[in-house]
Amino acid sequence: MFLWKYVSSYISAKFGPRTDFQTYLNRMNKCNECKWKIEKGNLAFCKSCFCIQSKMWPDAILWNKCRMKNSHCPMKKWNK
Ligand code: SF4
Repeated sequence: MFLWKYVSSYISAKFGPRTDFQTYLNRMNKCNECKWKIEKGNLAFCKSCFCIQSKMWPDAILWNKCRMKNSHCPMKKWNK
């Protein structure tokens, strides 16, 4: 059941609408000051979610994740 919830959440984010630019910036600002952000080379990921932290999974890269309107912060730090 947990896996299905995760998969459906991902599909909703991946194929859903994009955020407006201001929301994107607000999310990125939250991530940049967050202790859960992890940097690998020139890429940044969230280590509190279950995404694969690799450039082979570009949707997990924070600047891509933050652009997906239906993605969410697992720590509820984003306002929307
Ligand atoms: S998604 Fe949330 S928990 Fe993850 S780095 Fe961004 S603000 Fe932190």
